[in-house]
Amino acid sequence: MPVETVDTLVVGGGQAGLAMSEHLSKCGVPHLVLERSRIAERWRSERWDSLVANGPAWHDRFPGMEFPDAGPDAFVAKEKVADYFVAYADMIAAPIRCGVEVRNVQRLVGRPGFQVETSDGVIEARSVVAATGAFQHPVIPAVVPGDAGPMQIHSSAYRNPGQLPEGAVLVVGSGSSGVQIADELQRAGRRVYLSVGPHDRPPRAYRERDFCWWLGVLGKWDAQAPAPGTEHVTIAVSGARGGQTIDFRRLAGQGMTLVGRTESYRNGVMTFAPDLAKNIARGDANYMSVLDEADAYVARNGLDLPQEPEARKIGPDPQCVTDPILALNLAEAGIGSIIWATGFTVDYNWLKVDVFDQKGKPRHQRGVSTEPGIYFLGLPWQSRRGSSFIWGVWHDAQHVADHISTQRKYLAYHASAKRETKVA
Ligand SMILES: Cc1cc2nc3c(=O)[nH]c(=O)nc-3n(C[C@H](O)[C@H](O)[C@H](O)COP(=O)(O)OP(=O)(O)OC[C@H]3O[C@@H](n4cnc5c(N)ncnc54)[C@H](O)[C@@H]3O)c2cc1C
Repeated sequence: MPVETVDTLVVGGGQAGLAMSEHLSKCGVPHLVLERSRIAERWRSERWDSLVANGPAWHDRFPGMEFPDAGPDAFVAKEKVADYFVAYADMIAAPIRCGVEVRNVQRLVGRPGFQVETSDGVIEARSVVAATGAFQHPVIPAVVPGDAGPMQIHSSAYRNPGQLPEGAVLVVGSGSSGVQIADELQRAGRRVYLSVGPHDRPPRAYRERDFCWWLGVLGKWDAQAPAPGTEHVTIAVSGARGGQTIDFRRLAGQGMTLVGRTESYRNGVMTFAPDLAKNIARGDANYMSVLDEADAYVARNGLDLPQEPEARKIGPDPQCVTDPILALNLAEAGIGSIIWATGFTVDYNWLKVDVFDQKGKPRHQRGVSTEPGIYFLGLPWQSRRGSSFIWGVWHDAQHVADHISTQRKYLAYHASAKRETKVA
């Protein structure tokens, strides 16, 4: 059986894979995208039902196409985001094969390129781009044993309040997923405990501009690495119900009980760090710093944006913050379920090449790995803060495609130089 060959193989047909395909096509690089499921599958089956994009439609998209049925300030529902990428793949005529899983990639011996074993046969590729995303493998810290009583799921498996057994819910994690899920459960009439760790919480909008705009003009999306000491600080934002600033005091005012970072579990009792007030204060400081920088930007550039002094009013700390619960007996609190909104890690078991450090993280520079011919796309902080988001990955793909194209030119030059030598 002749083995199928392709110049560049892109693994994953999410937004990263599509951005890669668009830029490879622009560079004239023959390629194939393999997606084990459907285009943008994670937006369809690995997010909760009510999820909308965290950024407005004018921002959370690729430059080449607007959302067809949404105004620029709308927060697009997750199914529509997936539909958008299907339409985008069509528009760029992406050479994509769905339903094909990549199971093993290893370097060919004695010649350049890689052997790629898929669920549909073997392919040889000169280059391979791992575009399998930053949010691949749900992380649930080993805190509560599986047989402890409450149902435990990761935020990626949460769909809606009706899926959970009766009773109160403990949501662990105060990033965008945790706060949105906790809020939804609270509104559905559940008693909710929310474990709040260190977080940023930019204002949803300030002086008539969305935070995506502010982070853009203030250069924060372009930050190349998290500030030292903030590596584990999550960002709490939401586009739900038209988009609102995440305000933990408001959530507490609705009846939600905030607790500090989840620490341990023993004999039915969950313990929380005494850091709740500190984490809330840290989030406030981040919120205020965006207002300060925005005001300075407006003044420096003489912009005509209305003042918004009420945005600076922060209410008193609720009782659950001033007198925090440090230990909670789950049965006595009636906790029927725990939702771990504790993030994701990457999973490159299929990539058998020497590009990973001791922690399993890819060694790379802006997606160009230390192993010639292997590339990554969509990694958190691949080149900047925006790298794992819709708009950011598109720009990173441009750089990776350019590198692949340049390498092809080196190889072509070598071949023609050899021919000339023969003639002489
Ligand atoms: C809850 C949540 C909400 C988010 N909301 C926003 C938002 O509002 N705005 C924003 O900009 N970003 C958002 N993001 C971040 C990011 O945009 C998404 O996570 C997005 O799905 C990442 O796209 P990707 O293409 O990098 O990876 P993925 O969407 O994960 O795509 C990777 C694809 O690779 C496929 N795949 C994996 N392994 C293999 C294999 N071995 N062979 C073949 N195929 C494989 C998968 O099936 C998948 O379709 C959100 C993330 C989460 C978790």
